[in-house]
Amino acid sequence: MSERFEGNFTQQEPISEDAIAAALAVLRSGRLHRYNTAPNEPGEVALLEQEFAAFTGAKYCLAVASGGYALGCALRALGVAPDEPVLTNAFTLAPVPGAIAALGARPVFVESTENLTIDLADLAAKAKKTGARVLMLSHMRGHLCDMDALMEIARAHDLRVIEDCAHTMGAEWASVPSGRHGVIGCYSTQTYKHINSGEGGLIVTDDAELAARMILLSGSYMMYPRHLAAPASEVFEALKYDTPNVSGRMDNLRAAILRPQLAALPEQVARWNVLYRAMEEGLTGAPGVALSERPQAEQYVGSSFQFRLPGCDGAQMLDFVARCGARGVELKWFGAAEPAGFTSRHDSWRYAQAQNMPKTDAVLATLLDLRLPLTFSAADVAQIARIIRDELTR
Ligand SMILES: *Cc1c(COP(=O)(O)O)cnc(C)c1O
Repeated sequence: MSERFEGNFTQQEPISEDAIAAALAVLRSGRLHRYNTAPNEPGEVALLEQEFAAFTGAKYCLAVASGGYALGCALRALGVAPDEPVLTNAFTLAPVPGAIAALGARPVFVESTENLTIDLADLAAKAKKTGARVLMLSHMRGHLCDMDALMEIARAHDLRVIEDCAHTMGAEWASVPSGRHGVIGCYSTQTYKHINSGEGGLIVTDDAELAARMILLSGSYMMYPRHLAAPASEVFEALKYDTPNVSGRMDNLRAAILRPQLAALPEQVARWNVLYRAMEEGLTGAPGVALSERPQAEQYVGSSFQFRLPGCDGAQMLDFVARCGARGVELKWFGAAEPAGFTSRHDSWRYAQAQNMPKTDAVLATLLDLRLPLTFSAADVAQIARIIRDELTR
């Protein structure tokens, strides 16, 4: 009898007791709307923003309804107009091209490397060719490109960079927190990310005007003086009549459960990385497997694991995923023709113009992914690696 893994790849840890207590206090108060605060009470959302700004070292922070909303809000704040080209990774999750398309703008895909980061040569070429003003850079599956080299290219081509840090909250490049290289950093607090409020998003920037615009966009009903991580009221004066309200605020209940999670994030990052390294160790040298290289300057958060099986064709990939699945190891294949769950290829986003992405397609054709939820132990991960190795040799 071959061993079978019995764990659940989508089971997160419970919300901690202190977060539950904070949630109950908000519920008992009845004041769930972020601006519905008692006199001299800052409110959970404003406090979360202040704490997240401190965590990332940003001047300003805004909490919003989702990671996807954060991306759209950032694009609007930068004045992205209908039909405007916006550069973005060909390998990312649907909310990224979706945010661009929702503004009527045009996603222009940039190739991905075997290390799953944006291809810098293709980025420079497409920046030049399209004259795009904005790059929406997605740190997909937590992989950071050489951010210093990327920012060089951005400066050379006058590109403003929005960072999609849905998978890199808590990560750093050369000791600079992810989300702090570009002009705006966007994060998600959806259940499958690094802190969990079901749905939610955070935005950081050092730019006072962009911060004010995003706060107005999020639906501040002119209550912006109640923010703690916002620019001074004067900055809003020049913008408040001209910035549309596109409501997407966070509420006090979600913020209440996020604040204790944010405080615990550094410990959680260390736990994720123990699991990641156990997985890496378990698959190192396995026949036919190519692992991602993690550069020295990258301090990653190993909340998911990717590997490739170069040389396998589509039928072999499907068969391998099925065999691992039968033994309880849930792998996702990013090369599948049909979008399923959280995996999809750029050619399944038909609201964007079809684009030729041979390099990305070749990478995705053999790319597998698995989540490493913190409900797994290092022994669980070792067992998963054993099963994968075993199936590779069959
Ligand atoms: C989750 C995710 C987002 C944001 O998603 P929401 O579900 O809207 O919070 C953005 N980019 C990537 C790469 C993601 O995985």
